[in-house]
Amino acid sequence: MRGFKCLLYELDFVPKPMSIPDLSDEVTLARYPFLPQAKSWIASMAAKHHIDIDELLEGGMMDRARIRARSRLVDSVDSKDGVEVASIGDIHTEEGRILEAFSFYYARLVVGASEDERLISRWAQAEAERAQRILEKDSAIHVIANTYLSEIECDENGIWKMGLSDFIELCTGITGSRWRLPNCEINDGWVTLHDEGEKYSSRAKVARLLRERMKEDIKLDALEKMEKMDESLLIRLAEPVGMIRGLVASKTAETIALIGAGEEDWPPCMRKAVAELSQGVNVNHFGRVFLGSMSRCIGLPPETTVDFFRNAPDFSESTTTYQVNHLYEREYTPSGCSKLKINHNCAVQTGDDRLCDQPWMDHPLKYIRAKQRRRKRVEALGTSGEQNNQTDG
Ligand code: SF4
Repeated sequence: MRGFKCLLYELDFVPKPMSIPDLSDEVTLARYPFLPQAKSWIASMAAKHHIDIDELLEGGMMDRARIRARSRLVDSVDSKDGVEVASIGDIHTEEGRILEAFSFYYARLVVGASEDERLISRWAQAEAERAQRILEKDSAIHVIANTYLSEIECDENGIWKMGLSDFIELCTGITGSRWRLPNCEINDGWVTLHDEGEKYSSRAKVARLLRERMKEDIKLDALEKMEKMDESLLIRLAEPVGMIRGLVASKTAETIALIGAGEEDWPPCMRKAVAELSQGVNVNHFGRVFLGSMSRCIGLPPETTVDFFRNAPDFSESTTTYQVNHLYEREYTPSGCSKLKINHNCAVQTGDDRLCDQPWMDHPLKYIRAKQRRRKRVEALGTSGEQNNQTDG
């Protein structure tokens, strides 16, 4: 958590406005749900429509918000342009605004539950890029600029000026000679952001600089959520977290290190499939798809997944590689416990495994999450025990 504290420390020195401007336009609040002004509006929408945490995580009313959240998360990993600007709803209706705001809220819960600061940063970056692209054309840029910057002005010709301290702090994260101070016009502590064509118009430059500040705010909020997350919420979010981690793992080389789900964390159904295949037992089609999608979600490379099938009676290197790659490319997510039980792929009876007996256990990814949490707790207890012993000695 050192990084998180450092971040808070740094933010203490970021020049920000003494007071945040009022903002009540609901379309703007839904478009930029991370704004500080959006908090009370989202809370009022939640109260008005009875959206509590159960509804958000599993309720029918929030189905579409979760779908949109999934695409927000996938875009943050998959798209080089950040999160898709267009919502799947009409933001000029209350339903569309709720969809947009709560999808952001849900996505933030999921990245927070990943407990992975790199994933949180990546998502914050993608959301901030999305906001930047909207701001380039949105008149709300004025109120948003005044929300995040202590000194910012726009003249009647649409040329923006920014306080030097804000500019210095924000431009350091941006590459390119136009963002270096010797190349800027500075008068009395103000930097003028001149027009340089459409891509670098004065307004586009403000949006780009604001992106830096928005990214830090989004990241900080998600890190705070991560800090406050309790164990039951972490477990309930195991499935979407598995989905996004699997996607990250398939897009990057950061496989097992990112996931950290060692063999000791695997659920009995996964162990059963791996053990049966290694003994040459013919695992049914459902079990094979389950094993492939589980492997993907916990970040095993496709080659390792192919290896699981090597002793299967019908093994063919080329066919298995093709099928495994297909599972990875299509981003299959594993089935839940009820389907595994129906298809004879569940490995336990009541009493065999305490975790599988829990009333909330309905997905093998939740099993892994619970195991990881339990192990972390035991390790933490071990460390504090060691420290106590050292002090005692
Ligand atoms: S109860 Fe669920 S997690 Fe446990 S073995 Fe069966 S399918 Fe797997």
